[in-house]
Amino acid sequence: MAEKILEVENLKKHFVLEKGVFIKKNKIIKAVNDVSFSINKGEIFGLVGESGSGKSTVGNCIVGLYKPTSGKIYYKSERIDQIALQEKETKKYRDGIQMVFQDPTSSLNPRRTVRQILEVPLKKYRKIKGRKNLDREIKKLIKMVELSPGNINKFPRSLSGGQKQRVSIARVLACDPEFIVLDEPTSALDVSVQAKVIKILNELRKNMELSYLFITHDLSLMRNIADQVMVMYLGQACELADNESLYNNPSHPYTRTLLSAI
Ligand code: ADP
Ligand code: MG
Repeated sequence: MAEKILEVENLKKHFVLEKGVFIKKNKIIKAVNDVSFSINKGEIFGLVGESGSGKSTVGNCIVGLYKPTSGKIYYKSERIDQIALQEKETKKYRDGIQMVFQDPTSSLNPRRTVRQILEVPLKKYRKIKGRKNLDREIKKLIKMVELSPGNINKFPRSLSGGQKQRVSIARVLACDPEFIVLDEPTSALDVSVQAKVIKILNELRKNMELSYLFITHDLSLMRNIADQVMVMYLGQACELADNESLYNNPSHPYTRTLLSAI
C-alpha cells in the first residue's frame, strides 16, 4: 500500500461571528464541516469547489494558520493539529510543510531582493553558510524555477506576476519542504504564464519527491495535474475520486454541474 504523507480525519473549522452593529446575534460559519481524506507520498491531491466552499480553510488548518475546531491531522503519521502556530518553528516535523498563496506579493518581503528573500530560509532550514555556498544554492533555486540569474538582485516590485510567483516557489523550496499546500497558485496569473508555472511545479515534484495539496476552483486545470480529486461543496466533501473516474464518471450532481461548465 502507498505510504501516506498526510491524513485528515473529520476536520471541522467553525468561525463565530460575534453579534455587533450589523449582526443581530452570534452566527456560526461552518467553513469546513467534517472532511476526511489522505494524501499519498509523491501525489498531487486536488481540492476543487466554488468560492467559499472551504478549500483555503482546509489548507490553512494543515499548515497551522488556523487551529481546527475538531478533527485530527497527521503528517507522516504524527499528529500536528494541536500545535499552535507560534510553536510551529520548534517542532521539527512541521518544518516539512510549506504553503504557496494565490498572491505572491503576500509572501515576498518588498524590502528584500530575490537574493535576500532566498538567503534567509537557506540559512535557517538548509543550514547553508558562507557567501559562496549561499550564492551557489541561490543560483540553483533560480534555475529550478526557470528564472534568469539577472533577477537575483531585483526587488519583487520590478518582477512580473509570474516571475514573483516563481520566486515564492523558490522561497518555499529553500525551506526544504516535503509537502506543499498550493492555494490557487496560478489563479492570479495570465493563462500563458499559468502553464509555465504548472510545468515547473510538476517537474519539481518528480525531481524533489514532493507531495502537493493543490487547491483551485478551476476544474479543467485540475484535470491535467491531480492524481486524486476531492470536490468541496458548502464545507463538505461531496466527491473524492481518482482523476480519471471523476471526469469520466462523476457521481455527485454538483460535480456534474462543475464538469458541464468546462
Ligand atoms: P474557499 O477557499 O473555498 O473560497 P474559504 O475556506 O476561504 O473558501 O472560506 C469558507 C468560508 O469560511 C467562507 O464563508 C468564508 O467567509 C469563511 N471564512 C474563512 N476564513 C474566515 C475567517 N478567518 N473568519 C471568518 N470566516 C471565515
Ligand atoms: Mg480560497
